[in-house]
Amino acid sequence: MTTQVKTPQPASLAGRRVVVMGLGRFGGGIGVTRFLAGQGARVLVTDRAKEQELTQSLAAIADCSAELRLGEHRESDFTTADLVIASPAVPLHTDPYLQAARRADVPITSEIRLLVERLPDRTKVVGVTGSAGKSTTTAMIGHALVSAYGAGRVHVGGNLGGSLLERVETIGPDDLIVLELSSFMLEHLAPARWSPGVAVVTNITPNHLDWHGCFEAYAAAKRVILDHQTADDAAVLGPGLGQMPVHAGRVVRVERPPTPSLALLLPGGHNQLNAAVALAAVGMLGADRDAAAKALAEFAGLPHRLQMAVEHEGVRYYNDSKATTPEATMLALESFEPGVAHLILGGYDKGSDFTELAQKAAKHAQAVYTLGLTGPKIADLVEKAGGTVVRCGNLEKAVIEIVGRVHRDDVVLLSTASASWDQFTNYEQRGAAFIELVLRYTGEGSPIPKEKPRP
Ligand code: ADP
Repeated sequence: MTTQVKTPQPASLAGRRVVVMGLGRFGGGIGVTRFLAGQGARVLVTDRAKEQELTQSLAAIADCSAELRLGEHRESDFTTADLVIASPAVPLHTDPYLQAARRADVPITSEIRLLVERLPDRTKVVGVTGSAGKSTTTAMIGHALVSAYGAGRVHVGGNLGGSLLERVETIGPDDLIVLELSSFMLEHLAPARWSPGVAVVTNITPNHLDWHGCFEAYAAAKRVILDHQTADDAAVLGPGLGQMPVHAGRVVRVERPPTPSLALLLPGGHNQLNAAVALAAVGMLGADRDAAAKALAEFAGLPHRLQMAVEHEGVRYYNDSKATTPEATMLALESFEPGVAHLILGGYDKGSDFTELAQKAAKHAQAVYTLGLTGPKIADLVEKAGGTVVRCGNLEKAVIEIVGRVHRDDVVLLSTASASWDQFTNYEQRGAAFIELVLRYTGEGSPIPKEKPRP
């Protein structure tokens, strides 16, 4: 790759009145607030959520000098600022406070834009977007690059793993950056006319249409990752993206899972695709493909996404707590051979239709264990489809039932097709509880009698 012109250094933030809109619970607002305070900006953090809903995030910025406006937004904060940092969750074009800022000629930017404007060299950046598989593919690329170049030279961020802004000054000119970029982030990046040196698009299916307005706007946001590439850049495109306009000189298209399959801990054809895409991307940066494939063979997955969490007496326990829709659970279930999975289903009722999932589960799973608000409805459907159901009510009962029944080579899959909010704070807490219960009930001194081994 030839050296690109560096982005001009942005103006100093010291002493400027900067409004952070949306502190949130996931790190972006925290990282940007800490960064701005460190730069000497006069920061106001405003969030519609109340103080008691933001306790953890507030603790993470407690040592920063920042004013707070919580439980509401106030238009005058936006119209009198020097700069507004909008959370990617806020609709950029229709939010009334951002519109007010625009009318008052107050510039609007975002955490990710502040970051990319400060990265030393965009040709060393791999950006990953897509409708599904972004986090997994980003983490796979990061994992393979760390194994090739060492953790000190590789930085993973964007939508995954918190903000890199705070440590942007420690990123050296030869360091490699891997950024997960949501469509929201890309829409915020569009005015910066920035694309990464290696652009990865995993796939595009209709998603987040409420934010973007229509599929065309969503697809256009995704295209930002390719729009400002040059012939010196590289792109890796997943299945069905033949129509996407590409400017990069080097392009790899991954249309189907590789044959023979890659050796992976992560099950499923979709993870074969993600790994193939990840290998192509690290290859674009000059990393050795065989060494990268070896590294991916040891990648256990991201927490709560079909993560191989525990292996005990030949039984693998998978935590797929992030799967809160029937579609995600069907994909997880089909990642395993028929008849091996003990599947845990049910939780908060988002109004999903479980008919197709119940039919698949009846055929494909060894048994289904139901819990939560949607549990009884799912149990009825699975029974009607001829499947085996154990009605458990809660996760602890489900784990106890399962541990008493499993045999070597079985798989246990927490993939509830439902949100967690009826019995847990969020899917992360549910996944952590699952692992804790599995360890407790499979561990030494477990009170559950085990079935005798199959003859
Ligand atoms: P994202 O970050 O895009 O939400 P993740 O990597 O977190 O994606 O995966 C979330 C879920 O999306 C997975 O649990 C799986 O159900 C599904 N998924 C992952 N990769 C793919 C893929 N390549 N194609 C289709 N679905 C996928």
